Amino acid sequence: MHITADKGRCVGAAQCVLAAPAVFDQDEQGLVAPVTVDPAGADWPAVRQAVHLCPSSAIRIDEE
Ligand code: SF4
Repeated sequence: MHITADKGRCVGAAQCVLAAPAVFDQDEQGLVAPVTVDPAGADWPAVRQAVHLCPSSAIRIDEE
């Protein structure tokens, strides 16, 4: 799995951080700042949940 997080779309809702705190953080402006863009398999369900919850479709994942 590979994550692409688009700060240009992010509205700082922090849903991704709440869903997958091991993978997503926020920068000083409150915008998405991934801790890693290649998360461990154990975090994949949480990452998928973050993608589902993000209100601005700022997170994309490549499952391959
Ligand atoms: S959930 Fe979406 S809008 Fe909110 S901080 Fe994460 S990427 Fe940004």
